[in-house]
Amino acid sequence: QVRVRFAPSPTGPLHIGGVRTALFNYLFAKKHGGVFYLRIEDTDQNRFVPGAEQYIFEALEWLGIAPSETVGKNEKFGPYKQSERKDLYKDYANQLINSGWAYYAFDTAESLDNLRKSSEAEGKTFIYNHSVRDVLDNSLTNSAEKTAERIATGEDYVIRFKTPVGETLHLNDIIRGDIKFETNLLDDKVLFKSDGMPTYHLANIVDDHLMETSHVIRGEEWLPSMPLHVLLYRAFNWEAPEFAHLPLILKPVGNGKLSKRDGDKLGFPVFPLEWKTEEGVSSGYRENGFFPEAVINFLALLGWNDGTDKELFSLDELAESFDLDRVHKSGAKFDPEKNKWFNHQYLIAQSDESLAKAFAPVLTEKRISIENEKLVKIVASIKERANFVSDFWELSDYFFVAPTSYDEKAAKNWKEETPGLMNQLISVLENISDFTSANIETVVKDWMTTNEIGMGKVMQPLRLSLVGALKGPHLFDILELIGKEETIKRIHKAIQ
Ligand code: GLU
Repeated sequence: QVRVRFAPSPTGPLHIGGVRTALFNYLFAKKHGGVFYLRIEDTDQNRFVPGAEQYIFEALEWLGIAPSETVGKNEKFGPYKQSERKDLYKDYANQLINSGWAYYAFDTAESLDNLRKSSEAEGKTFIYNHSVRDVLDNSLTNSAEKTAERIATGEDYVIRFKTPVGETLHLNDIIRGDIKFETNLLDDKVLFKSDGMPTYHLANIVDDHLMETSHVIRGEEWLPSMPLHVLLYRAFNWEAPEFAHLPLILKPVGNGKLSKRDGDKLGFPVFPLEWKTEEGVSSGYRENGFFPEAVINFLALLGWNDGTDKELFSLDELAESFDLDRVHKSGAKFDPEKNKWFNHQYLIAQSDESLAKAFAPVLTEKRISIENEKLVKIVASIKERANFVSDFWELSDYFFVAPTSYDEKAAKNWKEETPGLMNQLISVLENISDFTSANIETVVKDWMTTNEIGMGKVMQPLRLSLVGALKGPHLFDILELIGKEETIKRIHKAIQ
């Protein structure tokens, strides 16, 4: 059975890259009728951030991709939080000590620093491998008794993995294909610390095994850990899951990974929900008026497509079309404009009634009351120009309040003859009893034709009088929606 997981460390708000990892796992599970579970990887107590865990759950919930097993939910292989599984890992570390795949090391921070410095002085990158472990003071160079004694007296130690020497590993990644790694270039990574906590590597592998993970789908930044992870499976004699490393999400401009700072700089969310700290607020998709479906659709196409030009996918359609084979190897550029475009698509796909409902509270706050039927029409006339419901007011304010100023450039269309024409127009309008868009248009146009008045001479000053600028939808729709009385009032005001 397919069992995949999202395994975030609660060290801050969930970044959009993390959300995409969660999404691809979710889609893969759905596609294969499998399980998507979430495990909290909180073994690094120094990096613990209050609220981060709750944030992760809330964000996935909002996006509609909540896991089916996690902390407090179907804990089939629970607990799903590593700090609550703490007692488990020591045994596994010991197991590797006993089988000769790991060893105790007693290096102090200072001695490690010296080693690093002397390597650098020789122009080499420091690798903690066999050349170091075979000469330094550790359980490989001490007797078993001496090691036991040092541990018993409370000396600080770590347990390190004993990387095999001189081997070329041939690994397979579903997205990247075959990858070669030289074990001599790998560090003997720390698996367990004397504070009783495993490191990410040990806990991650033990849990992926115990929770029966079939595929590890995660960000490219974890690719360098893959050889160690595969070696750990070998050391434990466990079957390794399959691996798929997703391409990075790149900055909109320049090179490199999209960061929180890019979002703040662009004034664009890179987090699903707002994240507040003492240093300030980082904006979230939810608070910026994005629809979760639009965020999902946008993220799905960061590094994947279905092989056609199709861009709009519902979550169900994604789950049906998704496949890891079609995930790209190269990084995906984050494009804020495209992101807005997706939101626009989901906005216009909504019914005018539901958009009117979403807009209504803005009007209530401004103490504007309007019949629902009219509001629905107003929304229908402006939605094509909106990316967010929050754009509605600016696009439609003239429907509710008369302009208080007129766009200067547009006012150039106001000629000497204009007031006279506008006065005539007022009489024409006063005589229309069926004040609906199409009818007003027929009557006004007839009047212009009969009197040989050029279109521009009337239409532009009229728009300017009603809107205050040369913008907005079909002019006669505006007349109908603001009504005869208000239309005439605004024209009067403009010619004063
Ligand atoms: N805890 C790791 C993270 O924060 C998990 C990486 C993995 O999926 O193996 O992303």
